[in-house]
Amino acid sequence: MGARLNEKLAIVTGASRGIGAAIAEVLAENGFQVALLARDAQALSWLEQKLTAAGARARSFICDVSDEAAVDATLARIETDLGVPGVLVNNAGYGGPFHRADEVSTKEWDTLFGVNVDGVYYLCRWALPRMKAGGYGRIVNISSIQGLFGGARSSTYAATKHALIGYSKTLAVEWGAYGITCNAICPGYIDTEMLAKADPEVRKELLRRIPTGRFGTAEEVARMVAFLVGPHGSYINGSSLVIDGGLSSHL
Ligand code: NDP
Repeated sequence: MGARLNEKLAIVTGASRGIGAAIAEVLAENGFQVALLARDAQALSWLEQKLTAAGARARSFICDVSDEAAVDATLARIETDLGVPGVLVNNAGYGGPFHRADEVSTKEWDTLFGVNVDGVYYLCRWALPRMKAGGYGRIVNISSIQGLFGGARSSTYAATKHALIGYSKTLAVEWGAYGITCNAICPGYIDTEMLAKADPEVRKELLRRIPTGRFGTAEEVARMVAFLVGPHGSYINGSSLVIDGGLSSHL
């Protein structure tokens, strides 16, 4: 530990596409230097070039967030090359396979927890003492409305996303005194690749249940992240912010 904290440096995991790419773009637009983490080298390099061409500072780091050693090595490189980030957005994650609880294999369970929960832990564990030393930090964990409610055939996914909310609230309590806030965002159905893979009939049924009659966009979630890590989000700590077009307001 020793690098200086840079309030305008943000790590975004799962930045190769979907919500994470949108978060990186919106943060870059808001003047942040962004460290882009994901496994898809080509997609990361494409986004890095796009952001750089637009005048932003972006660096990509190929990293599987479920691999503890890879995360530690990546973070060490970021610290040496860019400094300590003031902002950490844990977005990398996925759903599925959507099996009934008694059909979930140990491998599926462990793999999903590895990405959706362990990865967040590896990154926060590294960031917290460094942010504390710098007296500032903004951590945003992308959970889901399935972090607040259950859903048929989603036991593993819902368990990982509930875990993120408990983890975020606890970090808020433990680290708030050091200038660090930690919040979770709970998106409903957002039109990314994850949702594009759903059966057309399932998509139609989902749309029917959403009061606003449409899926959310990745940019809408990204703007919520930007609010939380920007000057107007300074007193929001330990919250689980829902962005779902009213879906979870149904009885
Ligand atoms: P996508 O499938 O479009 O993107 C997922 C991102 O996570 C990709 O950039 C992928 O990059 C990255 N990722 C997956 N596994 C790993 C890994 N092991 N290591 C590093 N990066 C990884 O999903 P969305 O953009 O839709 O989802 C982003 C987040 O939002 C997830 O946490 C998801 O659970 C959550 N969410 C999404 C909703 C939706 O409706 N879309 C609703 C609620 C929550 P790569 O493959 O290159 O590694």
